[in-house]
Amino acid sequence: MSQAPSRLKVMKLEELLRRDVWDVDEERHIEVLKQEGLPLKALQLLCPMGCYSMAGERLLMSYEGCVECGTCRVLSKPEQIRWEFPRSGRGIQYRYT
Ligand code: SF4
Repeated sequence: MSQAPSRLKVMKLEELLRRDVWDVDEERHIEVLKQEGLPLKALQLLCPMGCYSMAGERLLMSYEGCVECGTCRVLSKPEQIRWEFPRSGRGIQYRYT
């Protein structure tokens, strides 16, 4: 018995993300306030967009490609990372189709 062809296409995460667009706000919505005590490896490994990297001993954060998943917010305390959504209408705009 044959099945009707599905119209749904399975896509990889990278393919889905490539469809999205960013309206990057010049005002950063995420900021490292205090590096001490932060799980540096976890931030670098678990941010899906690679927004965290090290420059020697210093943690760098690039907010421009952020997909607002909240992972770094969960991994940190409010006094370590200031996390807000971008100002209204800015940041990532998801395209699901
Ligand atoms: S919210 Fe998600 S995508 Fe944005 S910087 Fe944090 S971990 Fe990365």
